Amino acid sequence: MIAELIQCLFYLEEVEELYTQNAAVFAGRRLHVEIEKQEDEAWEDLYLESAELGLRGRMDALRTRDGKTIPYEHKRGRCYRDEQKQPQAWESDKLQILAYCYLIESALKITIYEGRIRYHADNVLIHVPFNEEGRNAVLEAIAKARFIRSSPYRPPVTNNERLCASCSLAPVCLPEEARLAHNREFQPIRLFPKDDERQIIHILEPGTSVGKTGEQLKITRRNQPVETIPIHEIGQVVLHSFSQISTQALHFCASQGIGVHFISGGGRYIGSFDTRQGSIQRRIRQYGGLNNPHNCLKLARQLVTCRGQGQRKFLMRGQRGMKVVSAKLKDAISQMKAILKQVPKAQSIDSLLGFEGKLAAIYFSALSCLVSPDVAPELHFDHRNRRPPKDRFNSLLGFGYALLLKDIMNAILTVGLEPALGFYHQPRSQASPLALDLMEIFQPEN
Ligand code: SF4
Repeated sequence: MIAELIQCLFYLEEVEELYTQNAAVFAGRRLHVEIEKQEDEAWEDLYLESAELGLRGRMDALRTRDGKTIPYEHKRGRCYRDEQKQPQAWESDKLQILAYCYLIESALKITIYEGRIRYHADNVLIHVPFNEEGRNAVLEAIAKARFIRSSPYRPPVTNNERLCASCSLAPVCLPEEARLAHNREFQPIRLFPKDDERQIIHILEPGTSVGKTGEQLKITRRNQPVETIPIHEIGQVVLHSFSQISTQALHFCASQGIGVHFISGGGRYIGSFDTRQGSIQRRIRQYGGLNNPHNCLKLARQLVTCRGQGQRKFLMRGQRGMKVVSAKLKDAISQMKAILKQVPKAQSIDSLLGFEGKLAAIYFSALSCLVSPDVAPELHFDHRNRRPPKDRFNSLLGFGYALLLKDIMNAILTVGLEPALGFYHQPRSQASPLALDLMEIFQPEN
């Protein structure tokens, strides 16, 4: 974390406890495992703690050269090149190895003269001398860390945009969005893939159990061969009905930031096991933002507009390819347009609820027009009903909403927001208001 002080990562990881893993993080871990194998007996993995400095850390390697103890740090990437193209350590790496040097001195009471960093991509070994200047740099960094820790406010995103391109925290930090929020002229770029390419594992069959073996999840289904999936390929685990998951697998998923969700046999979202609920600092900021009625109304207007437009577009898309478009469908589309014009003028949440109700009533009354006459009668849609749904169409809608709610909860927990604190829906016993709020955007696409 001391190394991250150079960057803004420190606050997100150390204070807000947000961790994500990208390919670079996994590659870094693999490098350490490979080095451990190659170095065999020579490898000395050392975990040290110094109450005096307030530091603790796990050194990559500790070796003795000419009677002197030297900590080594291994980096997967390339070193920094100065103006003369000479290899140098990156500032953050330098601070990290200096901190290890100081930690060894303090914990083991021996003198350290240097630390070394090996950059594997260009096979360069950098010697970093450890002296009074190095000790002072570490002490300053510790003081700065203590100061940052005590603040409830996240520091601004870094000015060095290149850092964000390889930062594993970009999907939760959203630096391009933050820059856009401060400067409407800013042209954001996509820093991470549009879709999470990791799999969502649905365990559907009752009696199936999910366990852990090594760095993999092990899925055991009745009368079927055991399936294993590497953990880095998994984004979520969804347990339907009465499937089981072991405590070890639960702990493993929690440690890897993998959401585990439960859906009832009837297709109802029950809840999530997640330890990423978010730090108190983030909740204070969320509360500050959503405790302002003006903010809430502004967001809610956009939400109702977004949902209504999505529903209207869905009906319009459904007209394509129809030989004859029914008058009911055309009417619904034009009525929705008229209501949508009024939504931005709504002066209260209550009036927005009224507009939303009208939009939904028109949308569902016209939805049946999109179902082809060739579809089997039992799959036709008549009207929206729920708790419990009375036909197949409504059952499918309800099940789709349950999966959507699960995905929204997963996203909320990943970025560390408080799901109970929304801006449009009121707290209810079952679903979290913020999740219900954000679901509105995606419901027509469901
Ligand atoms: S994404 Fe950029 S701004 Fe955010 S923590 Fe990483 S380096 Fe800092």
